[in-house]
Amino acid sequence: MGLILFFQILFFSILSSPPSSHGWGKEGHIMVCKIAQQYFTEKTAKTVIDLLPESAEGDLSTVCPWADQVRFRYHWSSPLHYINTPGVCTYKYSRDCHNSKGEKDMCVVGAINNYTEQLRDYGDSSSGYNLTESLMFLAHFVGDVHQPLHVGYEADEGGNTIIVHWYRRKTNLHHVWDTNMIETAMKDFYNDDLNSMVEGIRMNITEDWSDEVDHWENCQNKRVTCANSYASESIHLACNYAYKDVEQNSTLGEWWITTDDYFFSRLPVLEKRLAQAGVRLALILNRIFDPKSVWEYSSVIRSIGDKEFNRAANAGLARI
Ligand SMILES: [Zn+2]
Repeated sequence: MGLILFFQILFFSILSSPPSSHGWGKEGHIMVCKIAQQYFTEKTAKTVIDLLPESAEGDLSTVCPWADQVRFRYHWSSPLHYINTPGVCTYKYSRDCHNSKGEKDMCVVGAINNYTEQLRDYGDSSSGYNLTESLMFLAHFVGDVHQPLHVGYEADEGGNTIIVHWYRRKTNLHHVWDTNMIETAMKDFYNDDLNSMVEGIRMNITEDWSDEVDHWENCQNKRVTCANSYASESIHLACNYAYKDVEQNSTLGEWWITTDDYFFSRLPVLEKRLAQAGVRLALILNRIFDPKSVWEYSSVIRSIGDKEFNRAANAGLARI
């Protein structure tokens, strides 16, 4: 499967055909990390800056797409971006978390748990891990596990083999969720500006979704991560939204019709997944780097949100 995917990418890139991709596009990953950075405690923020490569200039979001750039240099890392299910709308770690050779834990949930554990070595000079890379991988994979089609069906490679038209452009279903919907949303609602979209999502966190935020990190096993739950949510959303009503050669945007059902009914799902990924990444990193903090995330989120909202309101930014 990994090999098939690899040749598929090669094939597509050579022919400049519809792109095949494996994670939120660059923009999606940058947005997730920009949201996360808002919710770091002071100690977490300092530790993250300490671990970042110099080229990041203290900004985690600049390195969040990095794992996609190294997936062919670090060939072993390729299966860590996703999970395949055997054509069912449920996910099971014991059944689904493995690479194409059947090696256990080689999937996005295994990777999140693994890099979380590695980062606990911070401050231990005997640690053999490259914690800079551990941080960059973790920040990327927490984004990936929230993209619904990263927990998709094996047969269609998470929607990569489902060719569709996004408005007038030929692409594939996976790429629609990685990139096309974000691009269209940015263009239509946010002046083609990534920071405005992040701002809009952050306002939703404190407004429309404020009652849900408490539950976003609601799981039993808080010592490691809740990545299993995030993967289960993704396959459900993949079935109920991403795959729903889509066939080979479907047209998902009709340029001659002013309203588009697929885009408008799926965009709120996509925006909430970006928000959840950001908030949960911050929670994971705060737990690792600042475990003693009496950090009550929902109140922190609300207070940050109010500040941001007031700032935006003062600047005359309308809520979208
Ligand atoms: Zn990825």
